[in-house]
Amino acid sequence: MDYKGLKLADPDVEYAIKMEMQREQDTLIMIASENYASRAVIEAQSNIMTNKYAEGYPARRYYGGCEYVDLVENLAIERCKQLFGAEHVNVQPHSGSQANMAVYLSVLNPGDVIMGMDLSHGGHLSHGSAVSFSGMIYKSVSYGVEPDSHLIDYNRVAELAEQHKPKMIIAGASAYPRIIDFERFRDIASAVGAYLMVDMAHIAGLVAAELHPTPVGYADFITSTTHKTLRGPRGGLILSEQRYAQRVDKAVFPGTQGGPLMHIISAKAVCFGEALKREFIDYQIQVIKNAKVLADELKSLGFTIISGGTDNHLILIDLRSKGITGIEAEQSLSKAGIATNKNAIPFDTRPPRVTSGLRLGTPAITTRGMGEDEMKTIAHLIAEVVNEPDNKTVIDGVRARVKELCSEFPIYENHNPEAENSE
Ligand SMILES: *Cc1c(COP(=O)(O)O)cnc(C)c1O
Repeated sequence: MDYKGLKLADPDVEYAIKMEMQREQDTLIMIASENYASRAVIEAQSNIMTNKYAEGYPARRYYGGCEYVDLVENLAIERCKQLFGAEHVNVQPHSGSQANMAVYLSVLNPGDVIMGMDLSHGGHLSHGSAVSFSGMIYKSVSYGVEPDSHLIDYNRVAELAEQHKPKMIIAGASAYPRIIDFERFRDIASAVGAYLMVDMAHIAGLVAAELHPTPVGYADFITSTTHKTLRGPRGGLILSEQRYAQRVDKAVFPGTQGGPLMHIISAKAVCFGEALKREFIDYQIQVIKNAKVLADELKSLGFTIISGGTDNHLILIDLRSKGITGIEAEQSLSKAGIATNKNAIPFDTRPPRVTSGLRLGTPAITTRGMGEDEMKTIAHLIAEVVNEPDNKTVIDGVRARVKELCSEFPIYENHNPEAENSE
C-alpha cells in the first residue's frame, strides 16, 4: 500500500488512512460484518476505472469507450454465476441496501405488504424497518424467533403470511447465528403466492463455500453484500432466475442508480475469483470452527449465548447474566482494543442505543490467520473486561496483550506504517 502521491497532495487525508491502517492492525476486529479484503481487492478497487461512465450493461452502454469496463464487468458476472450457480447476476448495486431497494422496485408497488425479520430479532433495517425506505414505502410486517430456542419461528412465519398475504417474504439476517431453512421459507411463500427474497449479506462467503445451504433454487431473488464473509470490496449484488433478469437490471439502472462504480466492479471480479479457489473454502471452514470454539469458551466462562451456540461466523451474547449492558460492554472492550458491537437480543427490553447483547464475529480475525488457540485467549480477554468493565488496570492490561497478539498476525505484508515512516 503505497500512498506516496496522496501524501504529497493531501497529507491530512493520507494521515487519516495511515492511522486507520494502524488501528486495523492493532485491534481485534470482531465486528461480524467486517473483514480484511485482500491486497489484490484493495488494489483493484483503487484504480482508474473510477474515471469511466458506463451506464447500462456490457455491450448495451449509454457511453462509448466501454470495451475494458465491459471486459471486467463480464468477468465479475461470469465468476459470480459460477460461484453461486445462479442463472442471472447483477453486480452493479452500490451496497446491500441498494440491492434490496432494486429487488423491491422490480416487482413491488408502493404500499404492498412485505414481511421480513424483526430488526430486534436479528433482521436488517432494509427489511421493513420504520426508519428505512423499506418501511416507509412498503407496508411492513415482521416475524421473529421463538422465545426459548431463539430459532426462527417458522410456524409463526406461516401464520403471519396467511394473515397478511405479503407480496414478498424476506429471509436473511444480520445477527442470526443459526442455519436458515430456505426450503421452509419457499413453502411458506408459495402457499400464499408471495415472492421470496433471500438476503444472504452476512453468510454469502459460507454459501459460496457450501458451508451453509444455498438459497439458489428456492428464492426468486437473492441479494448480498460483497464485503462481509465474501471478503470483497464494499458493495452489493443480486442473483435471480433468468425470468426476472430484465426486471432486476432495469430496477438497478435506471431504476435506483446511475453510473456503476466500475473500479468496485473490477474489485468484485477479483473477489469472486478468490472465492472460487480452494483456499477460500479452507478459510470459511476455519471461520466457523473459530466461532464454535469462541462460543464454547465464552460459555465455560459464564456467558449466555443466544440459541446456545452458533452454526456460522457470528455469536450473539446475552449480557444480562453479567449485569452489564451492550453499550457498556462495547465501550469497555473498545478501550481494550477489541472491536465489537452492541446488539439487541430477541425480546430485548432495553432501547436500541443501549441493548442487552453483544455481537461477535470471526471473519476478520480468521483472515489474519488466527485459529482455535487464539480464540480461547480472546474469550478470556473478553471475560476479563466484561467482568470488570470499569477497572482501568484490567483494561490497560488487556489492551497490551491484544496489541501483542495482533503483532503476531500482521494484516497486510508491506503494510506497516512505521516502516513507511522510517524510509
Ligand atoms: C449488512 C447488511 C445489509 C446492508 O448492506 P450495506 O452494504 O451496508 O447497505 C443488508 N442486509 C443484511 C442482512 C445485512 O447484514
